[in-house]
Amino acid sequence: MSKERVHRFVSSDFTVRMAAVNATEVVRHMQSLQNTYPLATVALGRGMVGALLMASQLKDGQQVGLLFKGNGALGSVYAEASYEGHVRAYTPNPQYQPPNYDNGLSLKEAIGNGTLSVSRHQPFQKQPFHGTVELVSGEIGQDIAHYLHQSHQIRSLVSLGVYLDSYGKVQAAGGVMIEIMPGVEESLVEKIQQNYEDKKPNISKMLMEGASPADLIAPFMEGIPFQEIDHKHEVEYFCPCTKERVLRAFETLGEAELQDMIDKKESSEVTCQVCGKPYTISVSEIQDVKDRVHKASLH
Ligand SMILES: [Zn+2]
Repeated sequence: MSKERVHRFVSSDFTVRMAAVNATEVVRHMQSLQNTYPLATVALGRGMVGALLMASQLKDGQQVGLLFKGNGALGSVYAEASYEGHVRAYTPNPQYQPPNYDNGLSLKEAIGNGTLSVSRHQPFQKQPFHGTVELVSGEIGQDIAHYLHQSHQIRSLVSLGVYLDSYGKVQAAGGVMIEIMPGVEESLVEKIQQNYEDKKPNISKMLMEGASPADLIAPFMEGIPFQEIDHKHEVEYFCPCTKERVLRAFETLGEAELQDMIDKKESSEVTCQVCGKPYTISVSEIQDVKDRVHKASLH
């Protein structure tokens, strides 16, 4: 199967820009790596799609991170994507199950009240850009739209869909982001809103029926001329973890725990929670970490 891309479009008068993606394969891959249960699958999947759509509007080498942090049972949901189509996601509670599914797969309660923090990294830039807004819906898409409006004065429609089968496995995932640029004719905005209300496009259903990214955009843009613009990067689940970073995480265990591991003279198997990559940490490496922690504690 050929790899998907985030497709980008612009209205003929350049005042509306759009992005659409079929992210079924990467969201499925994330689920297989992290064995996520339905609520976390939908949350991480929507986060991944939203991050991919936002990142596609950046420039070479730039990436965007979305941190949804709430007081609900999922705690937090993090998704990150780069302009080049790399994407990954993480939640500390991938196997959270609600007491019942009376509310369906509503994320509102699972995430709870909280904030969305968006970071934007550029190469050679030490301090990333950060913006934080209150969560308005907890359903991811609307929260991204709220962020774009609050932090960048961009009005938008963000529609994200993750469809699971009755076993909770990902059947389809994707989304659409439509952004209104300054200087737009208000009649154009009204037309898009009218299209949206008339058609109520269901992204995951359309993907299940084989819709292409251009098909996903079409119902929103009926009667408005637009064309696709170049964005050749393929979407891929990618985690930039290294042994160095895994060792840094070991530092948080504390000296006593580390000494205990050294006494047992056993190397440790650690897997990255984001991508499942296994790392073997030798006893001497654990000793190095402990020495480092000890040194730091003397300062
Ligand atoms: Zn990793």
